[in-house]
Amino acid sequence: MLAEHGSGRREQELLCRCGQRLESRGVRRKELMTILGPVAYDRSRYQCPRCQAVRYPGDEALDVVGTTRSPGLRRMMARAGSQSTFKDGRDDLKIYAGLEVSAKDVERVAERIGQEMDIWSREEREQMPAEDGPEPDKDIPLMYISYDGTGVPMRPEELVGVKGKHADGVAKTREAKLGCVFTQTTVDEEGRPIRDPDSTTFAGAIERAEVFGWRIYGEAWRRGLARARRVVVLGDGAEWVKNLAEMHFPQALSIIDLYHARQHISALCRTLVGSDEKKMERRRQRWWALLDAGRVETIIFQARRFLPEDPDLKKAAEIEIRYLDKNKERMRYNTFRAQGLFVGSGVVEAGCKTVIGQRLKQSGMEWSVRGANAIIALRCIMKSNRLEDYWESRTA
Ligand SMILES: [Zn+2]
Repeated sequence: MLAEHGSGRREQELLCRCGQRLESRGVRRKELMTILGPVAYDRSRYQCPRCQAVRYPGDEALDVVGTTRSPGLRRMMARAGSQSTFKDGRDDLKIYAGLEVSAKDVERVAERIGQEMDIWSREEREQMPAEDGPEPDKDIPLMYISYDGTGVPMRPEELVGVKGKHADGVAKTREAKLGCVFTQTTVDEEGRPIRDPDSTTFAGAIERAEVFGWRIYGEAWRRGLARARRVVVLGDGAEWVKNLAEMHFPQALSIIDLYHARQHISALCRTLVGSDEKKMERRRQRWWALLDAGRVETIIFQARRFLPEDPDLKKAAEIEIRYLDKNKERMRYNTFRAQGLFVGSGVVEAGCKTVIGQRLKQSGMEWSVRGANAIIALRCIMKSNRLEDYWESRTA
């Protein structure tokens, strides 16, 4: 079956990249590894008389240029390597399919496919039409865009110049940024929002915020940003999260994740009340209730009246107050809830665990940026249910 693709008379002449007509140079044998075991395959070799470049049209047709592994096998290896450690992946392939490959092979193939997927999704973003035509049937009532960061453990040489979180200044991780896009059409009987089933897709990488901004913007655009009647950006109050929202989604309603807001309230209570646990708990409950009611100004007003004497605590309290003041419009949880909107960034946080944590943050793991980004790309495509899209585009 393969031989049919690899050799035989060609109807059309083959051209080299340099424009010259290629000449047939006989048939060469290649040993292919397939999911049915090794298969010898004969295919015609063509060479350019001018620049000596070589092409095997059969390899191009079968998608085995520069590799001896069939697409089916590569697909299995990529999946195995993206699901668990490369060693586990190797064992799975042996048990499920009787295939003998090394852990290093699984790593190499998974990494290469991850890189190709990253290029594929970037090209897809870049080729997207700049404007969507009007398609009223396809309007999206409500689109959410949410993103967050999570640390990935790195090899020491990948951490040169990276500042650590702690006082000793030694970083062990680099931040991967992960974003998700999902939609909502309806609420339940109690008015709580319902995420559209299977509507969540992911995009992420270890990269600078500016670069990631275009990635998540591209993903939102692919999902129909232009056709969304309403857009909500959900995130913690981190500076980069806010900056990206202002730059790429100025039309969006911006909401700070309720649980992050609560943490800030707790931190504020701690600085004001000190070590009296009971008092601290009472105040916290009261202010959380005010927060739920969207009454951030009341919290600020009360906090200002009880500023501590200790200059360090006072400073800490003022930082929290400033945070609340700056972000108060993004904390009107009563209004958001009344409109049936999500107020928590649980989806992207769960994504940080399932897309990145489960595979990249196992104990003892140390990654290169390149390797980690390839696996993140693979897992984003997989968890977005887009693996088939990718393989189909390759076949095409
Ligand atoms: Zn040539």
